[in-house]
Amino acid sequence: LSAAPFSLSTVSLEPSEPRSGDLALVYIQSDDATVDRALVRTVGYEFVAFRISSDRLRAVIAVPIDAEPGERPMEILIGGKSVRTRFKIASRKWDSSQLKVSREFTQKKSKELLARLREEEKELKAVWQVEPGPPRFLGPFVHPVDGEVTGNFGTRRVFNGKVSSVHYGLDLDGKVGDPIRAVQAGRVVMASLRWASGGTTIIDHGGGLFTMYFHMSRMDRKPGDIVKVGELLGAVGKTGRVTGPHLHLQVVVRAKRVDPKNRSPHTIQIDPAPVLGLDVTGDPKFLDDGGTPSAATVTP
Ligand SMILES: [Zn+2]
Repeated sequence: LSAAPFSLSTVSLEPSEPRSGDLALVYIQSDDATVDRALVRTVGYEFVAFRISSDRLRAVIAVPIDAEPGERPMEILIGGKSVRTRFKIASRKWDSSQLKVSREFTQKKSKELLARLREEEKELKAVWQVEPGPPRFLGPFVHPVDGEVTGNFGTRRVFNGKVSSVHYGLDLDGKVGDPIRAVQAGRVVMASLRWASGGTTIIDHGGGLFTMYFHMSRMDRKPGDIVKVGELLGAVGKTGRVTGPHLHLQVVVRAKRVDPKNRSPHTIQIDPAPVLGLDVTGDPKFLDDGGTPSAATVTP
């Protein structure tokens, strides 16, 4: 079994063998100061790499939860050149849990509710339309609450012997009113009361990375607010479709599909647990300063 780390002289991946549902960082060597962005095409998606220091660019990529283990090609487009390489997706097992569905969950949705859900869908879609700006994050990610993990990412919820849903977040225990902190620096892009996720705050960390905080009882930040790592966002609650108070933390990477017929932005759900252990490097000089959101289009 070869465990050689994924590395070319110009490209390296961290972790070297991500699992499905993992975030990975792609580092690209380049000291050409005129190149501040690059594109990374892999697993059917196109991710944007940003300059993070005088000699490197970095892309946040996501391995989709349904990606099978094995080798995958990766193409890097930088400064008019194309670099082709490969990396390996490690295998992974998922938990499953028997689901007890309450009457409320199985009832037909009213016209009013369906209209509300369509509005909520539109509001969320608008968030993903914006082209990613340079990363705002540097240093260690922090835990949003002190509570223990009570539900893992990727858990298959089985109802009557059939997989009925997949858990796309990490559940963390808490009491109503417990403080929720931003896991990294970023810009708040949503703070609204939604039907399923209740009090919902979304932070854009730049570089295509977002974190979402669900079921909040109190939201202290509004869209446009710039938050530092560890800064108070609000409080744990039990708003939305939940049975008890907890924080559901979701991490998504925004990307475009490589398929030319379907280029609309897409969000890929990734496991928050390994993300909370990250400590990222970079030259602060290249961080987004927290000003107006970047509307620049990508021209690699
Ligand atoms: Zn959850």
